[in-house]
Amino acid sequence: MTSNIDLVINFTYVIAAGLFIYGLKLLGHPSSARKGNLVSAVAMLIAIVVTLLDNNIINFQWIAIAMLAGSVVGFFAARLIAMTDMPEMVSLLNGVGGLASVFVAWATIQSGAGLTAFILVVTFLALLIGGVTFSGSIVAWAKLSERITGRAVTFSGQAVVNGIIVLAIIATGYAFVAQPDLALTSTEVLYIALGLSLLFGIMLVLPIGGADMPVVISLLNSYSGLAACAAGFALQNNILIVAGSLVGASGIILTNIMCKAMNRSLSNVLFSGFMAVHKTDMVIEGEVKPLSADDAFYVLEAAQSVVVIPGYGMAVAQAQHVMKELQLQLEENGCEVAYAIHPVAGRMPGHMNVLLAEADVSYEHLFEMDEINKRIENFDVAMVIGANDVVNPAAREMKGSPIYGMPVINADLAKNVFVLKRGMASGFAGIDNPLFFKPNTRMIFGDAKETLGTIVRQFND
Ligand code: NDP
Repeated sequence: MTSNIDLVINFTYVIAAGLFIYGLKLLGHPSSARKGNLVSAVAMLIAIVVTLLDNNIINFQWIAIAMLAGSVVGFFAARLIAMTDMPEMVSLLNGVGGLASVFVAWATIQSGAGLTAFILVVTFLALLIGGVTFSGSIVAWAKLSERITGRAVTFSGQAVVNGIIVLAIIATGYAFVAQPDLALTSTEVLYIALGLSLLFGIMLVLPIGGADMPVVISLLNSYSGLAACAAGFALQNNILIVAGSLVGASGIILTNIMCKAMNRSLSNVLFSGFMAVHKTDMVIEGEVKPLSADDAFYVLEAAQSVVVIPGYGMAVAQAQHVMKELQLQLEENGCEVAYAIHPVAGRMPGHMNVLLAEADVSYEHLFEMDEINKRIENFDVAMVIGANDVVNPAAREMKGSPIYGMPVINADLAKNVFVLKRGMASGFAGIDNPLFFKPNTRMIFGDAKETLGTIVRQFND
């Protein structure tokens, strides 16, 4: 029979779940995202406190120590991390989420209590998905931070190796569920299952690279939610099931948005290996025409409309504040200024929105790719600030290109294009960009913040 205390606990869980959903809704728009984060954090606090009161806690002391240590590490990591390293941190956080589910699964099996067939299945899933998420996220982190190559790593016989790993996972799962006594008596089975899941995570992410990385990051985010959901079933904790499902579902929705942004299907991203299958012999015609920041000022002074297209280089240069200054000067001069945001610009979903919000650029100035592409030829100047892949016209013009078919911001169709970057280096996808050779493009070489600073000083003078 359900006791009153159970009713109160479950009712509080429903409130926390409602707050999670409301928090997610608020996170859907930049203006309310901060509040959404806070609402979700409060919901998590409620969930933790109620769970601690609900269960027979063996040792509060260890929990307090772990919470304190986690809070201290989280606080300093978030404070000290550079904005450009944020995507790596998101990858690590996904991985840690997966690892937590592995520990829950491990502890559930070790406790040996109430291990019905259902609990064994969900525990195995928590261990499996958690392990895949952990090792996959570590590989994603290494790729993003350029500790290993960011390109797709493929080898012949990869599909066969993956097939063998999957079969071995199924066999281990069978041993877990159908032969629990065997699984429990031999700790080796646990080690084998964990080892296989870690290996599978590595094999899953290694062949994904280049411009496809945004998809894998949101997918791993979704996996961390699914692992938590399975861990919730293993622990029979309702709020963990709800929270895990929410993360899993929102991660899948984000994955879908990212796939659409790349014009790829998920299976194509996961199994084709970016750049691995299609080698391109792109012949780019035209010449690079450099322009000084001082000369760019004269064009901007006469411009009636400017569209700013920010990319990862703007985050590296931290040029958002000085860009805001230039925006105000241009507007004072009677010029319309718009910002065009590509869904995968930067290194994490919403990267450019975060940077521009930091510089107090109002949301009315931000336009999505499709919106701006419809009228980009009307702009006097397209200012590409540290963006490369997201403005690469090869996606439209060069059939052999690995990014062919990926929707990009058509900066080259504006009347004049200014590209602010340090040199001729390629972007994250590692491919050449014909935009830099177009007749209407001028390259303004140098750190974007310094270039923009020079133009701002010219306006002041
Ligand atoms: P890119 O990575 O394509 O290009 C960034 C450019 O910035 C470089 O070419 C670099 O050129 C330039 N740059 C670097 N530092 C500076 C600086 N200080 N001043 C001026 N320029 C600078 O960026 P995009 O935003 O165009 O594209 C994002 C790419 O990242 C896509 O391929 C996307 O798929 C991928 N990705 C996106 C994720 C996401 O979730 N958004 C996650 C993971 C990957 P130079 O060195 O010559 O200055």
